[in-house]
Amino acid sequence: MSRTARVLAAALATLLLLPCLGFGLFGLLASQEPGVGIGWTIGYLCFDTTLLGLIAAGWWAALRRDQKLPWECPACGYDRRGATDGPCPECGAVTS
Ligand SMILES: [Zn+2]
Repeated sequence: MSRTARVLAAALATLLLLPCLGFGLFGLLASQEPGVGIGWTIGYLCFDTTLLGLIAAGWWAALRRDQKLPWECPACGYDRRGATDGPCPECGAVTS
């Protein structure tokens, strides 16, 4: 994932906090008014849970490490520390 995409994902996830707090918490308070059915409370909780999930997904995408460490096989990610040069013992990929 490119750096631009990471920043974009983090920014979008952070922006989602606004409707999450606004609609979610305010809606939850409004749904506590007398005469309002339990369906609204459940609806707002579901709405907020969905938004929180999207926020978490956005940050996970932004912070996820997708670059292999120098000692990891570039093909399969196998930890090659201690292995001699030559093909990867796990997948057989030849590294330069
Ligand atoms: Zn490998």
